[in-house]
Amino acid sequence: MLSYIKDREIAYIEAMEDIVILGSGPAGCTAGIYAARAGYSPVLLAGPLPGGLLTQTSKIENYPGYPEAVSGFDLTDAMMRQAEALGTRVEFHSAKKLELQGEIKRIILDDGSVLESRVVILALGAHHKPLEIQGRGRLQGPGISYCATCDGAFYRGEEVVLAGNGSAALNEALFLSTLARCVKLVVPGEALKGPQVLRQRLESAANVEIHLGSRVVDAVQAEDGKLKHVLVQDLVSGERKELPCRGLFLALGFDPDTGLLEGTGIDLDDDGYIKLEDRDRTLTGIPGVFAAGDCTDPRYKQAVIAAGTGAKAGMDAAEFLRNHS
Ligand SMILES: Cc1cc2nc3c(=O)[nH]c(=O)nc-3n(C[C@H](O)[C@H](O)[C@H](O)COP(=O)(O)OP(=O)(O)OC[C@H]3O[C@@H](n4cnc5c(N)ncnc54)[C@H](O)[C@@H]3O)c2cc1C
Repeated sequence: MLSYIKDREIAYIEAMEDIVILGSGPAGCTAGIYAARAGYSPVLLAGPLPGGLLTQTSKIENYPGYPEAVSGFDLTDAMMRQAEALGTRVEFHSAKKLELQGEIKRIILDDGSVLESRVVILALGAHHKPLEIQGRGRLQGPGISYCATCDGAFYRGEEVVLAGNGSAALNEALFLSTLARCVKLVVPGEALKGPQVLRQRLESAANVEIHLGSRVVDAVQAEDGKLKHVLVQDLVSGERKELPCRGLFLALGFDPDTGLLEGTGIDLDDDGYIKLEDRDRTLTGIPGVFAAGDCTDPRYKQAVIAAGTGAKAGMDAAEFLRNHS
């Protein structure tokens, strides 16, 4: 280890790495698995949420290979241990600053140490835009979900509310309408936004109620702890009404966790997602920097897809190193 003090925030520089992966969700762990199996010893930074977003859900039924379902924590814990068993070094640190231009990339960590690496893989994830309740912060609790694809099946035959607008929200509402007894769609605008075919299907579905010009302002639990109803406010009159339901789905959009990349030269789209040179691969606009998972994906946001693109990033990184040795 080469030790020196360059300025107050940088304490020392570790040895040169081949590959540093930022993020320990399905994308980062799978990138580690593939890069390690290609003969490299990647470093994986676990970041502020070790295991990634999946750790926030108790039951995953749609990840292949788990017919009995699996908890999100157990699934990503297994992914991380698999990456480690194959030769990935997991460090429980976050990157605080990145210098990505040039052949040698520098990753400055939250403890002030610096990693230097020839390749960086960005697997930083994205988070759901929360619904903030005045005085109580982020709306969460039993019966509240930020992912209809993930949790819709738990509300088969029940009444549910979905808050949101735009094609992703409308898709989620349609998906829920195939499972739930009744879907109450609470839309902040005066009209549904999104492809006409989705709007028409929702408007003609017998089990979908549409509440335009309204927003969810609270969710109320019954004594048994299950969700009883949500409180919805009319945006013009201010009037409030109760909508009985067992599940509340919030489809308010996503924010990719890419704030760290501002000023690094990585191209982001208008919503902050990392732009890839070629959608089929994982190279960003900077040679030696690859990206995978939800931070590149405005559309799917599923663990199996994040893992798939992580595999691509591990393979692309190994190929880059072979071609530049
Ligand atoms: C409640 C819930 C339920 C879900 N259920 C399902 C489901 O049933 N099935 C399914 O397929 N998907 C489900 N998902 C979606 C799934 O969790 C995501 O699609 C998946 O986790 C994305 O993987 P990722 O690796 O791209 O990002 P993430 O899992 O979000 O991981 C991002 C990683 O980046 C790290 N990071 C962030 N900033 C830094 C930094 N500065 N330095 C270093 N590291 C950093 C974080 O610590 C984290 O480890 C669910 C999501 C939620 C919230």
